[in-house]
Amino acid sequence: MDVCEQKRDSLQICAAVAPSSKQSVVDLRKLNTEELRLIKPSDNTVNPFADMKIRDSSFLDEIDDRSNCAKCSKSRKYFCYTCYVPLPCIAERIPTLQLPFKIDIIKHPREIAGKSTAVHAAVLCPEDVTIYTHPALPDYSTHPNDVVLIFPEKGAVGVKELLRPLGPPSLKRPRPHLPFSKVVFIDCTWNQTRRIYCDERIRGLRCVELDQHETLFWRYQRGKPKTYLATIEAIYYFLVEVHNTTATMPYQGEYDDLLFFFKFMYEKIHSQYDPDCLRAYKDL
Ligand SMILES: [Zn+2]
Repeated sequence: MDVCEQKRDSLQICAAVAPSSKQSVVDLRKLNTEELRLIKPSDNTVNPFADMKIRDSSFLDEIDDRSNCAKCSKSRKYFCYTCYVPLPCIAERIPTLQLPFKIDIIKHPREIAGKSTAVHAAVLCPEDVTIYTHPALPDYSTHPNDVVLIFPEKGAVGVKELLRPLGPPSLKRPRPHLPFSKVVFIDCTWNQTRRIYCDERIRGLRCVELDQHETLFWRYQRGKPKTYLATIEAIYYFLVEVHNTTATMPYQGEYDDLLFFFKFMYEKIHSQYDPDCLRAYKDL
């Protein structure tokens, strides 16, 4: 059975064989108003980030010109998508986060680096996120039980089940030891996923799937449910689910800044459409 038909609930990185369409990723910026009306990336397109604690990004609007990456000297706008570093002009002003575990992102060699949201995670979490381009991979075989793969494959467990042996949080154990230290995400489109997942070095890892979360990603994948998340969304929701399962305190926006660039770009793109159009497809 088609894995994705079974598990409609997780990631843009899905294991199914894609239907006939060769062009499965659609850049919303290239759609006309009528085409936009026909899709519905979210129920709340006006201000979906209103309740989140995301640092003000208005200083990014003041950047008109590209400048050079401090590492490779290539011309970039906000960050370098090959070196995974912010440009010097914004480096001191963007948020940085520390995560409770390490994250590896395996990207498909044909995924366009400049459009991938995986880069956001590497720029915002420089100590904890590493991006690899397949087939370059770390050797997980030495610590297979210490690594989980976020992938909606048959047999994948939810976060609650993954963490169940820990028991409910208590005051005596405010921060239970997580049963993994590294989490792997695959960054590619639907069509590219199978090749990476079939890699033996990946295939043996425990799979975890996310609860239902709707994507706001502007590179909407035609014909795919709204629950196929952009990579930065998948990372964000995984962190929130782990927090909600293990912490004694309610979630208070600790990881919202992961969506710093995502929110900025989302708002930039949506501001280019007329409000009537946005209202119209909010109501669809
Ligand atoms: Zn660079």
